[in-house]
Amino acid sequence: MKILVVNAGSSSLKYQLFDMENESVIAKGAVERIGIPGSVLKAKGNGQEKVYEQDMPDHKVAIQLVLHALHDEGIGVIKSMNEIGAVGHRVVASGEYFKKPTLVDDEVIKTLEEKTFELGPLHNPAAAAGLHACMDVMPGTPMVLVFDSSFHQTMPEKAYMFGIKYEDYKAYGVRKYGAHGTSHKFVSQEAAKYMGRDPKSLKIVTCHLGNGSSISAVDGGVCVDTSMGFTPLDGVLMGTRSGCIDASAVEFLARKKGFDAARMVTYLNKECGVLGISGVSSDFRDLIAGAEQGNARCKLALDMFAYQTKKFVGSYAAAMGGLDCIVFTAGIGENTPTVREGVCEGLEFLGVKLDKAANNGKNTGAIREISAKDSKVKVLVIPTNEELVIARETLALI
Ligand code: ADP
Repeated sequence: MKILVVNAGSSSLKYQLFDMENESVIAKGAVERIGIPGSVLKAKGNGQEKVYEQDMPDHKVAIQLVLHALHDEGIGVIKSMNEIGAVGHRVVASGEYFKKPTLVDDEVIKTLEEKTFELGPLHNPAAAAGLHACMDVMPGTPMVLVFDSSFHQTMPEKAYMFGIKYEDYKAYGVRKYGAHGTSHKFVSQEAAKYMGRDPKSLKIVTCHLGNGSSISAVDGGVCVDTSMGFTPLDGVLMGTRSGCIDASAVEFLARKKGFDAARMVTYLNKECGVLGISGVSSDFRDLIAGAEQGNARCKLALDMFAYQTKKFVGSYAAAMGGLDCIVFTAGIGENTPTVREGVCEGLEFLGVKLDKAANNGKNTGAIREISAKDSKVKVLVIPTNEELVIARETLALI
């Protein structure tokens, strides 16, 4: 059976078409810069690549182009959409509404749209747009939602609770749920495999650093804490998201700027983060170029990002009472040596020793060890593969 996996991020949309007979990828691609000038789809199939440069203002337009690419001349791998047995969609926020992969029906769509958009305002509408676009083109094909928060269900109460009135947690479900769970799960398992160790014996900090970023503490193979909270706004500052901020500063800023609550949430989600700090871009490639040209605010944004990430690594080592491995993954984690160096710098006291040459080496697309041979803590760059996990979960469900 062929399974299409759609992973709609806040500014990107990745897809892979799997032949589940042998879990091989028969077509894949990525749309970048959705909603940003210069949007592009790079699609692969039949051993060829085709680049589609065209304006993609939203995820719906992006998915329509992806579906076109799957049977386009040259790179096309299918003749009709009927060959696709099911579609697995990555969904970031589930609240307490969905705890495991779920087959889509009208009720599920209603819950997704009415209950979860406010929990993942950047991602869940993107996932729903992708879902509707697929349902339009492939009516009758089973659609499955795979949620990022599943892996974080093992967090103990002391880690997922906020310091608010307990009754309000009970009444409204306000607690930490986490995000990127599929990625944290995959890379922590890959790290254990690479180290030739039983996951149960390892304390790992996984750093999923992309346009959205989160850091998780994985102790004995299960998640015990994670940096994203009630929504994916919490944790480190990100592309356009503020990350954690004193709640009183939010009220103060809202008053000064004349924003109501909804406008304030949009501000914190879309106008802050490294974009707000630099005033230049949410894309780390632009920030690095800016810092190299002497732009102090680009440098500040990069420094803040590495510093805040480092603080999570240190606090999670304390939470777990040890550290065996740090994993870097996702767009920034896999491609930006300066960020990895900034995170590891100063963690020597925990037994972290980076091999700078290895860290600066080319991204091969395979697992790379970037710690020195005598480093007590292994530091690994592991390409995430959320799509494979989603394809497996989708097949298992249908
Ligand atoms: P998301 O899925 O959350 O949209 P990604 O994991 O695709 O995000 O990461 C996007 C980020 O990764 C962008 O900020 C981009 O700058 C960064 N990135 C991607 N490729 C590279 C690269 N080759 N060099 C530096 N940064 C990169």
